[in-house]
Amino acid sequence: MALYAELHRHLGGSVVPRILWRFLQKEQSELLTQFADYGVFEEFYTRPRNTLEEYLKLHSMVEHVQTAESLPYFIYRLLRGAYVFENVAYLELRYTPYYRTDNRLGETDRIDQMNQIVSIVGESSRLVEYPIVTSQILCMHTKLPYAANKAIVDLAINRREFVCGIDLAGSDRLYGERMEEFIALYAYARNNGVNTTGHLYETPHGCHAELLPYLMRIGHGIQIPLLHPELLPEIAANGQCLEVCPSTYPKTGTLKDIAELKPVFDRAFDAGVDIAICTDNAGLHNVRLTAEYENLLTADIIGFDELRACQDAAFRHAFAWRYAERPAAMLGGLLQAEVDRRGLSCELSDREELSRIAANL
Ligand SMILES: [Zn+2]
Repeated sequence: MALYAELHRHLGGSVVPRILWRFLQKEQSELLTQFADYGVFEEFYTRPRNTLEEYLKLHSMVEHVQTAESLPYFIYRLLRGAYVFENVAYLELRYTPYYRTDNRLGETDRIDQMNQIVSIVGESSRLVEYPIVTSQILCMHTKLPYAANKAIVDLAINRREFVCGIDLAGSDRLYGERMEEFIALYAYARNNGVNTTGHLYETPHGCHAELLPYLMRIGHGIQIPLLHPELLPEIAANGQCLEVCPSTYPKTGTLKDIAELKPVFDRAFDAGVDIAICTDNAGLHNVRLTAEYENLLTADIIGFDELRACQDAAFRHAFAWRYAERPAAMLGGLLQAEVDRRGLSCELSDREELSRIAANL
């Protein structure tokens, strides 16, 4: 049974290197001529970058091959991998629809085509054999003109059957000069009942407190506990959740090592701020959600109790999860029902007692 919720995953960065390599081979893409073999390609694709900007260039490489025609191919493989290898039960997939439109068209036609892209992503995500509850987060982008970003918010307002929220992505060095515009777009979204998250406080360049009140969740937000812990009580009071993606920060040069995340978790927990652990770009990093959990445990950044709190928080802050409990709790209910049905004497409370004893051995 799939168990986990993933709140921060990019459609572009989710393509694992092997799947992208096979796709490029199938298409006989010219890109392949740059690489002697798969090993060279994988090394290029997954190696750490010095800055967020350099890292984002890789996104554009994948965006170019994700078109209206090829999106079903990538989404099928993405969901299959998430279900089989990661135990993902709930997935919010984020992307900038403008960058999946036909780049031979003019701006207005590309804006019009975004509606079709949302339909393709939505319909391709409904797989019977790998059932995951999915929804889309549409990303505005710092490089896009106002008209395209406004149209992205309008899609979030009008395509609620497939879309559960909006985000702001792209280099955070470009936020400052357009902050008023982004605030107006977020205010417009909130006034229309759209859920909001945004890449903010990811690097020291992305610290813009004026945008915080408009976000229900904060994409990364690690610089809040690291550089601005004074903001934590207000974040807790507002019920905002940090989407922490451990593998990202060493890849973008933001942190040297995930060990530097220890104060992020400690200070957030102390202040009562929720954290959802996410992958961001599971393909580019070659790190799946379950490995993100394990890496944090192995590095002694969190323990199992904290991990469970983060896994619970992910379902609580999910924009499109409509149930009170996470699947693990539902499975507990099924177990109890089975115990009752068979008339077994062992109550679930006894089982809990047993697992408590086992945990303390
Ligand atoms: Zn991200």
